[in-house]
Amino acid sequence: MDRQRQAHEGTERREERTGPPPGRPEPSHDPRPSSGAPRQPEHVRVAIVGSGFGGLGAAVRLRQEGITDFVVLERADAVGGTWRDNSYPGAACDVPSHLYSYSFAPNPDWKRAFSPQADIRAYTERVTEVFGLRPHLRLRHEVRRLTWDDDALLWRIETTGADFTADVVVSATGPLSDPSLPDVPGLDGFPGEVFHSSRWNHGTDLRGKRVAVIGTGASAVQIVPRIQPGAASLTVFQRTPPWVLPKLDRPITAAERLLHRHVPLTATARRTALWAVRELQVRSFTSGPGGLRPAEALARAHLARHIKDPGLRAALTPSYRMGCKRILLSNDYYPALTRPNTTVVASGLAEVRGSTLVADDGTTTEADVIVFGTGFRVTSMPVAERVFGADGASLAEAWDQGMRSLRGTAVDGFPNLLTIIGPNTGLGNSSMILMIESQLNYLADFLRQLRILGGRTALAARPEAVAAWGDFIERRLERSIWTTGNCRSWYLDRFGRNTTLWPGTTGEFRRLLREVDLGEYEIIRAPSPSAPSTPSTTAPAPEAAA
Ligand code: NAP
Repeated sequence: MDRQRQAHEGTERREERTGPPPGRPEPSHDPRPSSGAPRQPEHVRVAIVGSGFGGLGAAVRLRQEGITDFVVLERADAVGGTWRDNSYPGAACDVPSHLYSYSFAPNPDWKRAFSPQADIRAYTERVTEVFGLRPHLRLRHEVRRLTWDDDALLWRIETTGADFTADVVVSATGPLSDPSLPDVPGLDGFPGEVFHSSRWNHGTDLRGKRVAVIGTGASAVQIVPRIQPGAASLTVFQRTPPWVLPKLDRPITAAERLLHRHVPLTATARRTALWAVRELQVRSFTSGPGGLRPAEALARAHLARHIKDPGLRAALTPSYRMGCKRILLSNDYYPALTRPNTTVVASGLAEVRGSTLVADDGTTTEADVIVFGTGFRVTSMPVAERVFGADGASLAEAWDQGMRSLRGTAVDGFPNLLTIIGPNTGLGNSSMILMIESQLNYLADFLRQLRILGGRTALAARPEAVAAWGDFIERRLERSIWTTGNCRSWYLDRFGRNTTLWPGTTGEFRRLLREVDLGEYEIIRAPSPSAPSTPSTTAPAPEAAA
């Protein structure tokens, strides 16, 4: 197996060996008939793909709406999405715990201001239990192909387990699910271990090893301080220095927890305060460079406090405006870089020659292990290659000039498909769960509208509505720090367009997704039994389009 695949697939291979953890039920479904007969798909009202925060939230919302005829398809053997996969040392959230949780499932028992991965993962398991989602889960059901059947007006879903048909598909696969690995010449010949931050190989002991960490994003700055003390040597390949602010983390005291448990209003007040501060920050990101100057000064002071060597300090000083890339929070990253066993190579990884890593600037480093903290395939999500819409083209083809959507949630040419965390729904400074919940409101109304319309009906986003939404987003982004901040970030696609971030407040997004505007959709109805067999397309009724 080549190195890229090995780094990428570490988790899947581990799952094959270990099977489901004790106490977790096997999928209630027998995926394959033993007779070898063709598989009969099971029909459901809704199929949700993915069981991270988006998929679990959608499942809870369906149950709250009284819909129980749905499945949650999950490729792994447990729920949790990115919080299941990212188990690297030091993995923690940089959004405060009381904001990084569902509004409908408050947790008075968060132990830290910023939760570690294990606590967030446990929270997703608890939500699954408390809201009765287990019977809906189909674990180890990786979607191979999703095809819109324009005659039957339903989705045909092939998975590695059972097959399904569904009236509506909710794609909640998340932007941070598939690792992005640079194509480094010679990597295949590297004799040591290679893995990606989100596919951590817990079987490899890094103590006493020469470790190279590639990248200095949100994942790497959490990994570096944890592995530095034990490593024989640690080399950090930094292509672009990040802006790093102190992390105001602390344990949440027993008294606070008791108060939140017995007076839930105090937990709500805490969440509201955390939310409001971040809403007020949004203008600093959207109104052009300069808004974050005071924070830049704070970050420079943080750097100066920890890094005394002028050469290293210069290498770690960003040359672009703060906010252009994700702002990182850490108290222990800079100190780890000053330790005698640690070297910062201020250059990307260009080539591997045996156990020698060669940087773009020609620096050479010997390594036993390479850890890629190189991020995710956000603007070229692999799942898009498996979704085929009304004209037979894949979502990847539909998006080959860049991702586009209606309200971050629907895509023209892909009827009855809703994406959770779709294009331009990401945030630079607040909790993604707020955005997810807004999309769940939209989902609930979408299903309500289909029910009101009755019969076999589909809603297809009108191309002109998608274009209008795209124009609105683009205008908003023109002045934003992500466009004007003089950096190259994963927020931008290969054309340099920002197709990932929401350029507004979470409150505004919530208002814009409160309900479905039927004027933005074509209503497609299946013919009645006596009518010709092609589906008819009707313009919306004037009152519905209002
Ligand atoms: P990332 O932010 O995309 O960072 C990838 C890093 O790899 C960048 O520093 C990039 O450099 C570098 N890189 C890529 N190719 C390279 C090469 N050939 N040589 C050297 N460096 C190379 O990925 P991430 O750190 O995994 O974070 C992704 C996102 O996940 C975050 O932005 C955040 O949204 C989320 N996350 C959140 C948390 C949290 O606390 N909530 C924690 C971890 C991750 P350039 O900067 O030059 O491109």
